[in-house]
Amino acid sequence: MAVDSVISSPLGPPACEKDAKSLRFIEEMTRNADAVQERVLAEILTRNAHTEYLKRFELAAAADRETFKSKIPVITYEDVQPEIQRIANGDRSPILSAHPISEFLTSSGTSAGERKLMPTTKEELDRRQLLYSLLMPVMNLYVPGLDKGKGLYFLFVKSETRTPGGLLARPVLTSYYKSDHFKTRPYDPYNVYTSPNEAILCPDSFQSMYTQMLCGLIERNHVLRLGAVFASGLLRAIRFLQLNWPELARDIRSGTLTSRISDPAIRGYMEKVLKPDPVLAQFVTQQCSKENWEGIITRIWPNTKYLDVIVTGAMAQYIPTLNYYSGGLPLACTMYASSECYFGLNLNPMCKPSEVSYTIMPNMAYFEFLLHDPDSGSISSELVDLVDVEVGKEYELVITTYAGLYRYRVGDILRVTGFHNSAPQFHFVRRKNVLLSIDSDKTDESELQKGIENASKLLAEFNTSVVEYTSYADTTTIPGHYVIYWELLSKDSANSPSHEVLNRCCLEMEESLNSVYRQCRVADHSIGPLEIRVVKNGTFEELMDYAISRGASINQYKVPRCVNFTPIMELLDSRVVSVHFSKDLPHWTPERRR
Ligand code: AMP
Repeated sequence: MAVDSVISSPLGPPACEKDAKSLRFIEEMTRNADAVQERVLAEILTRNAHTEYLKRFELAAAADRETFKSKIPVITYEDVQPEIQRIANGDRSPILSAHPISEFLTSSGTSAGERKLMPTTKEELDRRQLLYSLLMPVMNLYVPGLDKGKGLYFLFVKSETRTPGGLLARPVLTSYYKSDHFKTRPYDPYNVYTSPNEAILCPDSFQSMYTQMLCGLIERNHVLRLGAVFASGLLRAIRFLQLNWPELARDIRSGTLTSRISDPAIRGYMEKVLKPDPVLAQFVTQQCSKENWEGIITRIWPNTKYLDVIVTGAMAQYIPTLNYYSGGLPLACTMYASSECYFGLNLNPMCKPSEVSYTIMPNMAYFEFLLHDPDSGSISSELVDLVDVEVGKEYELVITTYAGLYRYRVGDILRVTGFHNSAPQFHFVRRKNVLLSIDSDKTDESELQKGIENASKLLAEFNTSVVEYTSYADTTTIPGHYVIYWELLSKDSANSPSHEVLNRCCLEMEESLNSVYRQCRVADHSIGPLEIRVVKNGTFEELMDYAISRGASINQYKVPRCVNFTPIMELLDSRVVSVHFSKDLPHWTPERRR
């Protein structure tokens, strides 16, 4: 119900007084986007004027844009890695930031195969919390009555390590869920989760997921929205239900918790809420034992109004599967964020996934943009300010954060779709240099190439080599997995590599991929075993003929290292002579930070 006294937001009538305040804040920030940006930059530069990094560029206490732009270089992670490593090693002097670095956030982006370490400060947590606090007020404008039920969100913490200097290194969401902001959040009727903190904070992914699913089933009629951070996570939860519903139904019937849940905090919580419910157990059994799982989400959670998951960027590949399981429920992409910085939110969250635009909030950091030419792929060296980007153009995002990243290239390509007041809105186009992605993994061309090289060493003793290859991310399986097509040249047909050897090639490739990939395989189980499909000799020549018949230039033709165009994949699949999978898990342990 809208609050009449606060019908002040151009976005729409707020649902309550608290929402009105948040919507006013969004209006204020976006109306004054340039002034806010100027203030943010001045704050960052003034506060950090005495850091080793900024002193190096002799700003001489200047905090204005012109001096900043003329003196501070645009950088990538590798440029600032030595400073980051010193902080990780325990140097507490103000190297990048005047405020002490409180921990490192481990990005899913990697450098030399390892997660990038992003410095952060205590204060940044407040900034992230501020952005979170804006999401429900916006959602309430579009979906009324969310205070009448709960959200079933599958949220997880991941493993954390310490740097040699003793700072924690962990993913940004793990840091957030473990913070008091999350753990002791005040009751908000619009934001009640079915998952207890005990389950979200349990480091064992099976126990965490099992409990979250069990609570979601118990409260099935109260669930108004279902979510996970990324689409792949929600599908993994559905798969979990497929595999574990008999045990879940047993627990619901008997009102006792399986002995597979050993976490004392979870057991303590569930003792209080789990009661024998044979009717619900029967219902779960009836629904889940059906062969056909189409629309399972709305069958089990009939009051669900939307799915809250990111399906923009690489996650768009999961939209058809989500539609299948949910009977086409709206998909809400609410925010755009990273370990470096939280960027902004979607002011029209119930729009179609293809139309999602994120409004960058100018108070989060100082934002600049490098013009990107989608045809040539080239990126200009000139930087444009937030309010000066032009509708229809593509840009690479460059940020300057309070925590000590200055003119840092995030690696995301965004297209401007419009403005909300004077703040631009962006369609997420893609992340640069990502060839394959299933979950939070991001594999680039050189990593794939290295994997092929290492795996093909196993073929040398059979006088066999990989003459061509390509790949694709197969998301028809849950979890999805990488598929690599190989065309082999065997010089000694009497001694060609066996099925067993090619299976080992799959594992060898996985061993070569970056640590985020291996963590997804080993700890999160969010990626399935890598598959090699050997194709007939001459297949890649046919692929080239096909491309040329569609207008590619013979001279410029290059084998695509990743394919997702159906006719090409059909061609490749029709030429497959053998199929091989990793039979083991690659090696992965929480990273040691040198
Ligand atoms: P991480 O550093 O692991 O937190 O990953 C951050 C990256 O995830 C961003 O730079 C984007 O490439 C991607 N990402 C985050 N939010 C979204 C979104 N809403 N849509 C598409 N990609 C996103």
